[in-house]
Amino acid sequence: MTLGGPPGPWPPAGSAGEGPEDPACEPASRRRVWRGVSASAGVALGPVVRLAPVGARAEARPVANPAANPVREDEVRRLTQAMDASDGALATQAQDARNAGSAALVEVLESQRMMVRDPLLLTFAMAALEEGWSAEWAVQRTVDALAERLSRAADPYLRERARDLLQVGDRLLGALDGAPPPPAIPAMPSILVGSELAPADLLAWPRARLLGLVLEHGTATDHTAIVARALGVPAVVGVEGGVHELEEGAEIMVDALRGVVVLGASPEERVEAEVRRLRHAQRLERRRDGRRASAALEMLDGARVELLANADRADAVAEAKAEGAAGIGLCRTELLEPCDDEMRLTSLYTEFVERAATFGPVTLRTFDFGADKPAPGRAASSASASPFGARGLRASLADPLALSRQLRAMVRAGAAGAGVRILFPMVTTLEEWRAAKALVRQAQDRVRDEGGPAMPVSVGVMIEVPSAALMADHFAAECDFFSVGTNDLMQYTLATSRHDVRSAQPAQPLEPALLRLLAPVHRAAHAAGIPATVCGELAADPVAVPVLLGLGYRSLSVAPPALALVREIVERVSAAQCEEVARACLGCRTAAEATACVRDGLAEALGVVWEDRGR
Ligand code: PEP
Ligand code: MG
Repeated sequence: MTLGGPPGPWPPAGSAGEGPEDPACEPASRRRVWRGVSASAGVALGPVVRLAPVGARAEARPVANPAANPVREDEVRRLTQAMDASDGALATQAQDARNAGSAALVEVLESQRMMVRDPLLLTFAMAALEEGWSAEWAVQRTVDALAERLSRAADPYLRERARDLLQVGDRLLGALDGAPPPPAIPAMPSILVGSELAPADLLAWPRARLLGLVLEHGTATDHTAIVARALGVPAVVGVEGGVHELEEGAEIMVDALRGVVVLGASPEERVEAEVRRLRHAQRLERRRDGRRASAALEMLDGARVELLANADRADAVAEAKAEGAAGIGLCRTELLEPCDDEMRLTSLYTEFVERAATFGPVTLRTFDFGADKPAPGRAASSASASPFGARGLRASLADPLALSRQLRAMVRAGAAGAGVRILFPMVTTLEEWRAAKALVRQAQDRVRDEGGPAMPVSVGVMIEVPSAALMADHFAAECDFFSVGTNDLMQYTLATSRHDVRSAQPAQPLEPALLRLLAPVHRAAHAAGIPATVCGELAADPVAVPVLLGLGYRSLSVAPPALALVREIVERVSAAQCEEVARACLGCRTAAEATACVRDGLAEALGVVWEDRGR
């Protein structure tokens, strides 16, 4: 979320951006067009605010004559001035964030202020100066050492602070270099442009100052894209060609209906983009008005479908209700708050569940750290994040005490609303699953022993790893519900990456291999009599939704802004039509063939919806 940094060279060196397409554009020499992946539909026009990469490096430079006291004093003075300047800038920025109503950002900035003033940081840095090192290296060495300590802390909250400390280091190094402090939030609504951005940092941004998002890395199914869609922020990601070096303040157009970013758009293009932006907003509005009346949802032939919402922010619960969701199908608790304090978690989940109490149950998923949601203490790097290793339940089981604290908080929250369903992410084996269930039972016993309300909770398995999909019949016999995570299931089935657009390119929503896993998963759930909800992004894909319905899925969970779209699709098709199309898709050899099957089979029913989405 750190902003600013010196403006890059223009035009950016080595850019693969396209040359002028329209000779009428103004000024022609500055016109650039970049293409990427549309991660959240919409159009935005506005000034660029650059996201600075975290973790600038200083050199290990000794001062000229370390033995000479005046030299050391110079460095001490430089360091204390840099600390004062950074503290002052952070205070101003925290006030800006307060005025903009972003409590989350205020919290981050205030905690960074405390770090700048931390006596331990000063002591470590002074020791380096005593040894004759430059102020820059004193900062670098200190920040590295303290961040390393924090990243090993038992408390995830403290581990999370390591990233803040690296950002504090960047600020201090910038101040030593005489660079102006980066603005925390822009004075006016802007478009964030950068290499990458962690989902939590996007969530902390004040929505009113955020027009759009452009990132060099990322894909349409990574978590930053998911958050952008949930916030309704137009976003283009996976944009190659040095887009992150765009000048601060440059006016750009983000056409996230077409996956295009334009610098130096002509007046005609701007007008046309504005018209399309308005049309898109009106379409969304119309769709919403016409369809939010009731939570009951039926296909043309009367087959009932349950529509739930994915909500990772407390505010999103009210949006879900307004859009007619029948409950919360997925709350990614690591995005809600990655905290380890049991009392804090209890009040957080209780309040969340209370908000939904008037309209439906809440599915709370245990922490799913790893890959692009960094384990606390590690800087997010969507370019390098490995989807393998300790993630989800496997990572949680490595620290059973922490998992138990989270489970007790969830169990207590069960008394607050219309039911809590506890969901575990990235389940891979039955052994893991049984260990998770045993911890839930212990949590319930403990809450009961404390005299607390021990409401029954149902426990569910995320089916998002091929091993779980292949063993779905056995899992179905030992759990209360399935949530099908198509984002990860696609990634692991096709050996692609949700985080790196270059390797993610081949994965298409209707890959027959994915469909051949989804079909038996539904059959296994049906045979065991348990519900199966699709909560990955496929459930909001206008071409994939009828196929999911045709495979038998009758419960879908999507971000609130997508609820109206999915509702419209469900109401326009019959179960029989969808079954026919799904059968044809299962016989296809490629995603392109499967997509053509859906288009041919349902053009009459859904053509207008696809057109709206530029599909
Ligand atoms: C999924 O993998 O499809 C899913 C819903 O979980 P997440 O996107 O949080 O990984
Ligand atoms: Mg997942």
